[in-house]
Amino acid sequence: MDIKVTRTIQTGSRPKDADLGFGTSFTDHMFVMDYSVDKGWYDLRIEPYGDFAMSPAAMVFHYGQAIFEGLKAYKTPDNKIQLFRPRDNLKRMNRSARGLCMPEFDIDTVMDALKQLVKLEEKWIPKTHGTSLYIRPTMIATDPCLGVRSSFTFRFFIILCPVGAYYSEGFNPIKICVAKDHVRAVLGGVGEFKTAGNYAASHHATEKAKKDGYAQVMWLDALERKYIEEVGSMNIFFVINDELVTPHLSGSILPGITRYSVIALAQKWGMKVSERQISIDELFLAHKDGSLTEVFGSGTAAVISPVGEIRYGKKTIHIGDGTSGKISMKFFDALTGIQYGKEQHTEDWIEVVD
Ligand SMILES: *Cc1c(COP(=O)(O)O)cnc(C)c1O
Repeated sequence: MDIKVTRTIQTGSRPKDADLGFGTSFTDHMFVMDYSVDKGWYDLRIEPYGDFAMSPAAMVFHYGQAIFEGLKAYKTPDNKIQLFRPRDNLKRMNRSARGLCMPEFDIDTVMDALKQLVKLEEKWIPKTHGTSLYIRPTMIATDPCLGVRSSFTFRFFIILCPVGAYYSEGFNPIKICVAKDHVRAVLGGVGEFKTAGNYAASHHATEKAKKDGYAQVMWLDALERKYIEEVGSMNIFFVINDELVTPHLSGSILPGITRYSVIALAQKWGMKVSERQISIDELFLAHKDGSLTEVFGSGTAAVISPVGEIRYGKKTIHIGDGTSGKISMKFFDALTGIQYGKEQHTEDWIEVVD
């Protein structure tokens, strides 16, 4: 399918690497395509970044039919542009689309559009280690209709933002708080899909935790309020008796691409890995008997985020000695080494944009 390219005459400039935040500055262009039942996906275009004109009755505003993805483009030392497992993001987006009664798209076509867009915006990709170009594919329901049903028309778009190093003050462990009164997602719901509503549902507990000084909320399963699910926008890993333990994909957990990558590396390194149910009580007992040595989150934004403190009700545990653990560091170094093209590797996780 042909992609029509309209270039802007008013180009912006990328903030200095040290001033890059997360998701506040956007590049000059975006990719957009529309869907109707008759035409399928049509009008594929790269056009100047700008506001959408849309009916206030557009279904996305009322019934939340919206899905998205998050991935990054990295600059290598020899100035190549690399994407990390981008097809896995697009496959997951198609899964989310099926889950929310939205239309799937052709992965090769969107991959092509994504690469063209990233190439066009090359000057927006920061170079300092830790900085990158964040890529946000999104799909929304556009029917101007308040009747409750799935939309017949949709818009898909990709926007880009240069983002700063997640760890501007170093790789320090974060404090997290277990949600006791709230749940993120329930089995049979949409927890395993990357949909806007999961985030809308998480703000109440997260804002409260932030007020209390915690960076993120750790969610428990919605049925028994016992088994650990995930943390904020990250999957969670524990090192217990030198074994890497992570909650299995229960159906209400987001299947993270960083999570799959951590598991694959651990298996390659000969570490024992289990994807299984792990209860909050088991975690606190493992801390008590000294077998819990590290906790870290995994996700595209931070890659690996060591956890130093977990609160559950009135109890708080401290993990390790307050610095980030060796195993967390090893995963962080290995993954970022591959992403930034600084490490030799045998994984086929990189797609070069040229
Ligand atoms: C995106 C996301 C993750 C992490 O997925 P990655 O593919 O590793 O970035 C984890 N949990 C939630 C809720 C998410 O939305």
